[in-house]
Amino acid sequence: MVETQRPPTTPGHPGGHPGPHPGGHPGRLPGVGAVQPRGLVYDRAPMLVYWETTLACGLACRHCRATAEPERSPLELTTDEGKALLDRILGFGEPLPHVVFTGGDPLRRPDLEELVVAATERGIGASLAPAVTPDLTKERLASLKAAGIQTISLSLDGSDPARHDGLRGVDGTFAMTMRAAAWAHEVGLPIQVNTLVTDTTLDDLPAVCETVGGMGILRWSLFFLISVGRGSVLREITPAQSERLFHWLYELSKERRFQVKTTEATHYRRVAIRAMEAEGMSDDEIARTSVGRGFGIRDGNGILFVSHDGSVYPSGFLPLAVGNVRADDVVRLYREHPTFTSLRDTSQYKGRCGICPYVDRCGGSRARAYAWTGDVLEADPLCPFVPTAEG
Ligand code: SF4
Repeated sequence: MVETQRPPTTPGHPGGHPGPHPGGHPGRLPGVGAVQPRGLVYDRAPMLVYWETTLACGLACRHCRATAEPERSPLELTTDEGKALLDRILGFGEPLPHVVFTGGDPLRRPDLEELVVAATERGIGASLAPAVTPDLTKERLASLKAAGIQTISLSLDGSDPARHDGLRGVDGTFAMTMRAAAWAHEVGLPIQVNTLVTDTTLDDLPAVCETVGGMGILRWSLFFLISVGRGSVLREITPAQSERLFHWLYELSKERRFQVKTTEATHYRRVAIRAMEAEGMSDDEIARTSVGRGFGIRDGNGILFVSHDGSVYPSGFLPLAVGNVRADDVVRLYREHPTFTSLRDTSQYKGRCGICPYVDRCGGSRARAYAWTGDVLEADPLCPFVPTAEG
């Protein structure tokens, strides 16, 4: 799964804060081949490292948490610094994390192929989260595939040009996205499509689903807006809406050939677990589903984000820098920094998440909890589950 992750520059607050395209996350982009469950606490190594190679981007997405800029920043990690980062990632040991080259638009870096080759030579799997602009060509995709890119993500936030281009800020982006998907197929790159979930895109999701169903994708990842950065002009859906959407997604996941995942909406796992239990599946069988393989993964647990200037965060949506790869050991930051260790310790979680029987598998969006309350350990405000009343 590829998302464009980058933290906001200021803490979020109710009604408005930063949020990119993810994600995040969380989720998982690699997506090639079966993956066995690894446990719920990723205290030795993340599964995914998102590297925001640049802030430069030709789009002006309304929900971009990265607040992307037209030109590259002199603060970006250099080619050599990027290779040094990849060397340090080897310090996590096996199984090595998968690196998602994101931005901004990573295609704006002329050394992108060199960096991807460097990752591949080190045995690090690589995926790409490009922006859809004239820089995205079939030739560039073929070049990046040859360098070692395994999957790419494309964003599709509306079922027609008016809806998608309106969010992306540039006319013609919908058509270019369809063309990019066709090119990806031609060069042999599996595709993840990322779709933004807000109160304005919610009613269009069934139509988007039909569109992505015709694109031959590997995975559909729904990114649940955390209203930050440019995203603050958009609004999150309500907890009741998220619950209805999850039930629809679960049924969809059984019918469609592509996988379905959510980003910054880990409580989808609770809905899916309950549905699978009701269908008679064992815990072991549930853990081996595509949902089950993501159990536990959330901001700071299985996920690490490196910004364009080398700052290290628990995810692209959580604006808590813990250090910088120019001065600090990224392995040590991930394993030992109190922000990371507290995010992995669900016994410290508060409110409903703190007493929830699903906390280790779900854990809620730590980024949304922080955005709305200023406390990463608080309950996820998008989850309507009341553990004491419902079990
Ligand atoms: S209460 Fe928290 S841990 Fe439980 S399902 Fe909701 S978000 Fe997940």
